[in-house]
Amino acid sequence: QLSNRLEAVANLVPQDSFLADIGSDHAYLPAHLILNNQITGAIAGEVVKGPYESAQKLVTDLLLTDKIDVRLGDGLEVIKPYDDVSAITICGMGGTLIRDILERGKNKKCLTRKELLILQPNVGSHVLRRWLVENDYLIQDEKILRENDKTYEIIVAKESDKKVKLTESEELFGPILMKESSDVFKVKWQFELEQYERVMNQLSQSKTSQDEKIAQINHQCDLIKEVLA
Ligand code: SAM
Repeated sequence: QLSNRLEAVANLVPQDSFLADIGSDHAYLPAHLILNNQITGAIAGEVVKGPYESAQKLVTDLLLTDKIDVRLGDGLEVIKPYDDVSAITICGMGGTLIRDILERGKNKKCLTRKELLILQPNVGSHVLRRWLVENDYLIQDEKILRENDKTYEIIVAKESDKKVKLTESEELFGPILMKESSDVFKVKWQFELEQYERVMNQLSQSKTSQDEKIAQINHQCDLIKEVLA
């Protein structure tokens, strides 16, 4: 049984993909997708020995060793040119870490750019959106959900010839998420707004000048108020 978060990611993986799940931990996601006949095969990549061994154990216990290849290595380096990966999932990490994995993968030519990217940053999704746009990816889909008092965003991106720039708001909120403006989205940003306002109050009471920081936070608050209006 997958978490709602990973279930939402699984629903975005196209039928008959060959998947590379990077930072796979227990390999729950590829195992679920294979058991549901949704993918033809997978690589489960892990950089840390403990999770790598957990993934190996699950795959062996479920008799899936012919379908899921568990590999130890940093980020996209576990993908080899002959693998013919059609989709990559990188989930449950910060946006900056996911961006760095993609950037290193690009520089080491592990990313062919033909793969569909399904990314689930826990925080800092704007960092990831910026990287995607700078690298000529088009954001095709986005999801937002809440589980165990946490909000999760999922971004699906594909290489594109079209040069699509994002506005500052689209980068921060997600071009699709802000258009949909779901209840989960509104609750998340209302909460963020309250947090920013609290910080701003504290800064305005400070004895040293905090004008620059206050101006920055004020700007963030204006963007949030606009998207919630
Ligand atoms: N993807 C799973 C999920 O969403 O539930 C596991 C998330 S877990 C919090 C993050 C995993 O990413 C850890 O097992 C960690 O070892 C792995 N990881 C972190 N940096 C990595 C990298 N550069 N390459 C491969 N795996 C990495």
